[in-house]
Amino acid sequence: MKIPFRYSLLKIRRTKIRYIVIHQTTCQYSDPSSKIDTSKFQIPGLVGNMFEKKQADINYHFVIDKLKDDYQVIMCRPFVTLCDYDDIDPDINNAAIHVAVMGNYDYKVPDLRLYEVIAYRLLNPLMKFLPITHHRIFFHHEISKDELETCPGAFMDKQKLVSMLKKFVIK
Ligand SMILES: [Zn+2]
Repeated sequence: MKIPFRYSLLKIRRTKIRYIVIHQTTCQYSDPSSKIDTSKFQIPGLVGNMFEKKQADINYHFVIDKLKDDYQVIMCRPFVTLCDYDDIDPDINNAAIHVAVMGNYDYKVPDLRLYEVIAYRLLNPLMKFLPITHHRIFFHHEISKDELETCPGAFMDKQKLVSMLKKFVIK
């Protein structure tokens, strides 16, 4: 299943990147085949949902998927374009990179390796090149106008993520 490249349907980013927002994929895509953290490649599940919702591309810039034994970072929507979130202040969204962990962490406790991979492979390198400290990294529910939003899941621990960001800081 190939996703067509359709920049014309996406909004080009006009401001510098100043925020990173963390999600779980069930905040956008409810397909059961991409709901639970398994070792199978699950991006096709998201793509099926994406076509159903008539989106131009997956509505995250990066997705963390578990492939066989380990978590891998997959680039989805090009980060020169915006993701679409009505419940997030446009001043934040227009300057945000959106990162989603595959699965539903309202039901499952994330393992330590997931925090390590997201910090070491993605967030710390981004923080090295962008003017972003961990104070500008938000969980979706922290900035959503929807008070019932739990994304990236009740079991996702911000303090654990911040401690990993400090462990893998690039000097
Ligand atoms: Zn979310």
